[in-house]
Amino acid sequence: MNKIKIGIVGYGNLGQGVEVGLKNHPDMELVGIFSRRDPKTLDTQSPAYLVQDILDFKDKIDVLILCGGSKTDIPKQGPALIEHFNTVDAYDTHAEIPEYFNKMNPIAEKNQKVAVIATGWDPGLFSMNRLMQEAILPNGQSYTFWGRGVSQGHSDAVRRIKGVKEAAQYTVPDEMMINKILAGETVDYNQKDAHTREVYVVLEEDANPTKVEKEIKEMPNYFVGYQTGVSFISEEEFKAEHQSMPHGGRVIRQGKTSKDALSIIDFSLSLESNPEFTAAVNIAYARAAYKLSQEEKYGARTVLDIAPHYLSSKSREDLMRDLL
Ligand code: NDP
Repeated sequence: MNKIKIGIVGYGNLGQGVEVGLKNHPDMELVGIFSRRDPKTLDTQSPAYLVQDILDFKDKIDVLILCGGSKTDIPKQGPALIEHFNTVDAYDTHAEIPEYFNKMNPIAEKNQKVAVIATGWDPGLFSMNRLMQEAILPNGQSYTFWGRGVSQGHSDAVRRIKGVKEAAQYTVPDEMMINKILAGETVDYNQKDAHTREVYVVLEEDANPTKVEKEIKEMPNYFVGYQTGVSFISEEEFKAEHQSMPHGGRVIRQGKTSKDALSIIDFSLSLESNPEFTAAVNIAYARAAYKLSQEEKYGARTVLDIAPHYLSSKSREDLMRDLL
């Protein structure tokens, strides 16, 4: 069997998750990791190369999984690499996804490549579930809850405050509200009231805790409007309790199929490792990218465009027999 040849671009949490996750897929093999840093400095046993040498691998890789950050890496690396490779990425700047799609699609079509953009769980599996839930229950109400889990973006934002040595930010959903929704009650939902934020901070020696706490709570776009608790802890406690990256959440729809019949759809994820799970989704979509390119169905796509059978290593016939 010809294995699907995968390259990883960017070796952070997600890149490491893809490296580990590929071991679960006998139909795929890792050709190499491509980083902007000196490959010798990366803590890996896999072949690693400088990303500027990636064009040497043009004919040796079927799909590149782009694992860079959404803020600055993917908007640059995506359009540059789709010229030469099929790609999958977990771009998660929700508001900019249509613009990113419009950038990737013409380049992918022109160069006969497939770009699967914005995979992962949100955007990704949550988006797909929102679509199905709304399509099936048009007369209803949707709710998204995130957590309890570490938000990397919020943790990073706190780490940038002067006087902060380490920080972890947990997003915590309102479980009472969730239980009411699942019991069929109507609730007044908005994202800010439905979640609280817990921040654990290790301070630099000379830092002023009152000033740091004020700066966290008044940070626009991140904390303003949220009920936020700040706890100052020791470096030892931080290392022991706050180094893993759990996350999860749920997408729920309450909908009426007639005046008296309520249906509730509840899709939930509970993840001990956010990056490993996100990587697992990206790997399945790398298989989809490969199959689409074999069928010469070029261009950019999101999870909303790809039929589920493309994700599987089984044939459609086997899937019909085993799963329908
Ligand atoms: P990281 O910050 O760990 O890595 C981003 C990039 O930074 C890496 O690709 C790497 O590039 C570089 N890097 C990593 N570690 C170091 C280091 N020690 N020193 C210098 N550079 C480093 O981000 P994550 O892997 O956690 O996340 C990547 C993206 O995934 C996020 O930006 C997020 O948008 C997205 N994501 C999407 C989800 C979804 O559901 N759609 C869920 C979770 C994340 P290089 O090797 O080239 O230096």
